[in-house]
This record gives sequence, C-alpha cells and structure tokens, in this order.
Amino acid sequence: MVSIQKEFISSLEEIGKEKGFRCQRYESRIRRTSNIIELDGYLNCLLYFKIRSEDPYRWGVTKSRIEELQASGKKWFIVLLFETPKNGYLLTSQDVERYINGSLWPMGRRKNINEYKISTGKTLQYNHPFHTFEDFINSLEDILRATFPRIHDTGYEEYPPNKITTTITRSVRDTMLSNKIKMERNFQCQVCGTTLIIKSKGYAETHHVKPLGHGGVDAESNILVLCPNHHILFDYGEIAVSPENNKTVIDSKGLRIATLKPPFLKKEYVEYHYNNIYKKA
Ligand SMILES: [Zn+2]
Repeated sequence: MVSIQKEFISSLEEIGKEKGFRCQRYESRIRRTSNIIELDGYLNCLLYFKIRSEDPYRWGVTKSRIEELQASGKKWFIVLLFETPKNGYLLTSQDVERYINGSLWPMGRRKNINEYKISTGKTLQYNHPFHTFEDFINSLEDILRATFPRIHDTGYEEYPPNKITTTITRSVRDTMLSNKIKMERNFQCQVCGTTLIIKSKGYAETHHVKPLGHGGVDAESNILVLCPNHHILFDYGEIAVSPENNKTVIDSKGLRIATLKPPFLKKEYVEYHYNNIYKKA
C-alpha cells in the first residue's frame, strides 16, 4: 500500500523537476502527516492520498484530515490510488464536500466514528479518473487553471513599455523579466516542449505575443517562452495560438499542431497576434 504512494510521489517529484514544482509532506499546525503532500510552484495545492490495494475498494476519508485540509486555506484534492500508482481517481474539494454533505458518504459508526465511509452499493460519480501519470497531471493542471484562470499572472504589474526611458534602462528591465520567466518555465518551449541545453545551461527565447512595437505590454501574460524555431514561426505569423480556446497552436492552414503549455496568455494579446500578424501573414 505504502509503496504505491511512494512510487506515485516519486513520479510526481520527477515531473516536478521538469515543470518547476516541488513536493513535500504537509505540516499543518497540528501535525506532520505522510499522506498529505504539498505541491508548490504553479500547482500550489495539497494532495491527500488514500490507497486501496485490493477489492473491495470501500474506503473512507478521515474527518479530522478533511478539517485540516479545509483549514489550510489552500486548494486541496484527494488522490485515490488503486492497485498501481497509475490508476486512480482525483477528487476535488468540491467533489468531496458534495459527497459528505449528500448522503453518499455518511459518517462511520462505532470504530469508524472519525471516518466518512462510502455507502454500500454507491459509486463515485464525481471524480476525474486517470490511467496514466500524465492523465493525472493534466487533470490537476486543468482543474487548477479553471479555478484560477489567472493563477500564473498575479503579482506582476502590467506596464506599457516606456519608450522614452533610455535604451539601457529598457533592455535591462526586459532582460530581468525575460530571464525570470525563462527560469520559471525551465527554458522549455511552450509549443514543442523542447529544452535546449547549450554549455550545460538551458537556452530559450521570449516572444511578446502582442509586439512591444505595436503597443504590447512587457508582462508575463503577453510572453511565451519558445525554442528558436517556434519563435521565428510566431514572429512571422506562420503559427498562432487559436483565440477560440487560448491554447491550441495552429499552423498556417488553421490546423492544430500542438497544445500550448501553461501558463497561458491574456486573450486580448492572443487575439491581437491572430488578427494582425497571423491573418496578415
Ligand atoms: Zn519549439
């Protein structure tokens, strides 16, 4: 049972190195627990693990744990793993609260007094099943993105480029933001996922989707981290992000070539590039 969780967490740590988040045991004010893991970085949430290695998969969640999660002020999820570290269910806090407040998970009796137990014969109708580790990460990212559409975009002032300050001031400021963003996104191209390594360091380029020369802002929500190939294709309007969903990358014929890796751009900048650069190419 424990090894399933361990294996899952080590996959999480691996992918975290690539994507830029870390996992650690969550320390609430009450105690340190091995089955609540805290993710930092852009995911910034808590995962409460429940493992069932064999049939019947009748399980419960501990009332005091749920209270700890609720008190944490963070987004939290339950990860249910079955038999292998790849199969399971991801439940959001809303899913769980719906189960608890409905009659689906009544409080256990006698020795299970601190547990919410699933009623016999009931199934989990609200959840996000996954069958690969990738599925799991994708669901988690999607849910968090939907909950906080601007999760990657806080804490940054959006200032229009100041054209009258000296070139030196401008380029220093740009370089600082640009370097910071490249590091945060691990020098990984948001289109193809490539990370170029040059002299043992990551290399990537930043692209202002609404160009500075067109009045675009120098802000995270207007910047993509790209490999040189995808950078030039964007510059010349050979490819674009579809304004329909803000994440499908399309070629010159409008066909999907990739899904943009987060963080996503402000819709208005995507529309600007689409209408004024891509459409006119
Ligand atoms: Zn690329």
